[in-house]
Amino acid sequence: MVEARPERQDLAAGSDFPFGKAKGMVFPRTVLVGHGVIQELGAMCHQFGFPTQGAVVTGPRTAELAGNRATEILAADGFQVRTVIAHEATGLEVDRVGAEVRAHQARFVVGVGGGSKIDITKVVAARLGIPFVSLPTSAAHDGISSPRASLHDSESVTSTVGAVPMGVLADTALIVQAPYRLLASGCADVVSNVTAILDWRLAVRLRSEEYSSTAANLSEYAAHEIIDHAASIKPNLEESVWIAIRPILVAGIAMSVAGSSRPCSGSEHLFSHALDRVSSHPSLHGEQCGVGAIMMMYLHGGDWHRLKNALLTIGAPTTAQELGVTNDEVIQALVMAHAIRPDRYTILGDNGLTREAAERLASVTGVIQ
Ligand SMILES: [Zn+2]
Repeated sequence: MVEARPERQDLAAGSDFPFGKAKGMVFPRTVLVGHGVIQELGAMCHQFGFPTQGAVVTGPRTAELAGNRATEILAADGFQVRTVIAHEATGLEVDRVGAEVRAHQARFVVGVGGGSKIDITKVVAARLGIPFVSLPTSAAHDGISSPRASLHDSESVTSTVGAVPMGVLADTALIVQAPYRLLASGCADVVSNVTAILDWRLAVRLRSEEYSSTAANLSEYAAHEIIDHAASIKPNLEESVWIAIRPILVAGIAMSVAGSSRPCSGSEHLFSHALDRVSSHPSLHGEQCGVGAIMMMYLHGGDWHRLKNALLTIGAPTTAQELGVTNDEVIQALVMAHAIRPDRYTILGDNGLTREAAERLASVTGVIQ
């Protein structure tokens, strides 16, 4: 992500320049969404002018579903491609995959798989300074088109900056084959933008934080697209993927415009990160953020019933039990959430919730019974 160049702003501050703002934004160049778009992979890579040597990074299961096909399509289009099988998204795995991609002298890389394989690919591409194409086989969160990557180590999950994909191929015929739970989780992640934006506006009012109305509007638009079409998002229906995937991609674009995850990550994400730390069996990122958004909307005094109903309609979790975590883990996560990322000001404030307030919040919203 290219940040604003401070020297330009300094230049304006101390002189009579009437205007000195500057900001860079990095977006995908081509996004193809729809039935069978995997077939366009070779043409897309030629259009980008990629050299012959490339690599496909995929998982053991996603190789069979789409990774091997991606390699075949590229080979038929004249590319020399090495398939690299990636496993868990850890720092060590990024090093190993990066070394294999480099050994093949790949000049571009295609990530084929779920969130973790795409995350590994975006970090490898950023480190090697080569372009990458994102070919998701599921849509469990909003990271398909964003530069943010989540890497795990033995104790925690860290958010790392990777490359923005040059191209995105979201093939609805592939994504509909993934377990429906993943798509519902991706939708819940986008629904949770609603509270992220309320937190952002609060931080603007209380902390004069930098704000982008374009990014905020894109993020809210994405959330409302999912909420308004919740009844049309169901299992085993390719059109559901079509309806859900575009807002998921727009959420990624909102982050590109803002130059940070701010438009799509507020107190509900802090709750999810806290739950990852305290729970012995944390759930999917998007699912946890959806449940977090119900509770944070209550704190904002907003219409939390509407969020909850949208999640229920989609079939995403709305309770601790459905997340597979204990009531106590939810309370612990609520109490510690404000401390996860102190620079991100939210409705949780500087001191967070007391245990009593957390218990009340979780029970009033029906997250714990
Ligand atoms: Zn998220």
